[in-house]
Amino acid sequence: MNWDDFATWGARISDWAKGYHRTLRDRPVRAQVAPGDILAQLPTAPPQAGESMDAVFADFEKIVMPGLTHWQHPRFFAYFPANATPPSMLADYLATVIAPQCMLWQTSPAATEMETRMLQWLRQSLGLADHFEGVIQDSASTATLAAVLTMRERALGWQGNEKGLSGLDTLRIYCSEEVHTSVDRAIWIAGVGQDNLCRVPTHGPLRSMQPDALEAAIKQDLANGLKPAGIVACVGGTGTGGCDDISAVCDIAAKYDLYVHVDAAWAGAAMICPEYRHYWEGVDKADSVVFNPHKWLGMQFDCSAHFVKNPDDLVRTLAIRPEYLKTHGADGIINYSEWSVPLGRRFRALKIWFVLRIYGLDGLQQMIRNHVTWAHELRDLLAAEPDFEIVTEPVLSLFTFRYAPDGATDLDALNQRLVDTINNDGRIYITQTRTKGQLVIRFQAGQVDATREDVLFAFDTIKEIARALS
Ligand code: PLP
Repeated sequence: MNWDDFATWGARISDWAKGYHRTLRDRPVRAQVAPGDILAQLPTAPPQAGESMDAVFADFEKIVMPGLTHWQHPRFFAYFPANATPPSMLADYLATVIAPQCMLWQTSPAATEMETRMLQWLRQSLGLADHFEGVIQDSASTATLAAVLTMRERALGWQGNEKGLSGLDTLRIYCSEEVHTSVDRAIWIAGVGQDNLCRVPTHGPLRSMQPDALEAAIKQDLANGLKPAGIVACVGGTGTGGCDDISAVCDIAAKYDLYVHVDAAWAGAAMICPEYRHYWEGVDKADSVVFNPHKWLGMQFDCSAHFVKNPDDLVRTLAIRPEYLKTHGADGIINYSEWSVPLGRRFRALKIWFVLRIYGLDGLQQMIRNHVTWAHELRDLLAAEPDFEIVTEPVLSLFTFRYAPDGATDLDALNQRLVDTINNDGRIYITQTRTKGQLVIRFQAGQVDATREDVLFAFDTIKEIARALS
């Protein structure tokens, strides 16, 4: 393909994108295909001769498009959002066409220095103390892995990387049942072992770790000759939005010199609105915090903001400096690959810059406030219906509910059937989770293009399909 063809196709794809986004409401939200449908349409071997872009694009529309779930659909209420805004797409397009590799300062100085400044902007936007310094990770899972590795090294006197774990102290890390499974995976990969992830019981309306139980577990482990290393606390857990009491957790951690990592992958974005910051009261006492602008701020995947109080600990845990990666004669530079597991890095700060400048904090705050308001409105509408019950109250824009008509016996099966029927219908998309031993339906509002009408549409659709079921 030559650059003239590239420009022609770039313009065609931009037009196509406008049409796609404007007509999203006409498409089913979740892909309506069966496993293997797409695979069966893809030739089993690569083409020997090159093909025309017309042919490739025609197949993209015919084969790929029907097999996609539309994450930018205004009636996507499942999981958490993975928002993309037009300025973010344009920034990523520029990053894609320039395609810099941003592993070191010298391999893309603008990307490094933009990342430094954008993480400062994000830190201020969230109201975090200025002792935090930030780095962009590809995902919250990577940030949490980096935090658990740091906990491990710190607790082992920085010997783990060098000596391996055998013969060293048995580490213990604490969290509640509400944290995302990325914590479990971090524990596995760090060699701490699932058995050493201590689950602290929760209490209260936010399903927070019980501080007394946390401290008792730490004391018991110390008495048993084990080595407490750190705590992973959550703000806005994946299932139902559970939030730990960050202040209490940090105070206990300080007593036992433990590292605290706060996973606010989804809810962190809402902290750009000062009125929601009570959810993470005390966060400035934590050692690290992660949140995903790629969830709820429209800075599309991958863009995870990882703030650390002491970057030296992170760098001591992850940095390797072979001669071929050294930059001689430049003082005071940051090589962000030393702050993360992968060496290679895309230019991700550009989309933060574009999005913050185009919408301003005002625009992003308004979007989040709308989502929270509309989710509460839907909660009230469902609560007023005789055959629906609210199971967990909204945390920001996420709540859970059940369909529980009189006389229904197996409510778990009924609610799973309701979720499946709604998603096969395709007008909206929601998912299920388990809490309090029950299968419940999760609802979150978070789409950039969603309107209040879309949320009210979800209410009508849920009611209509539920009643048709019974
Ligand atoms: N933490 C929480 C609370 C999440 O909800 C998620 C994903 O939804 C993650 C971590 C993992 O995020 P990522 O896909 O960025 O690794």
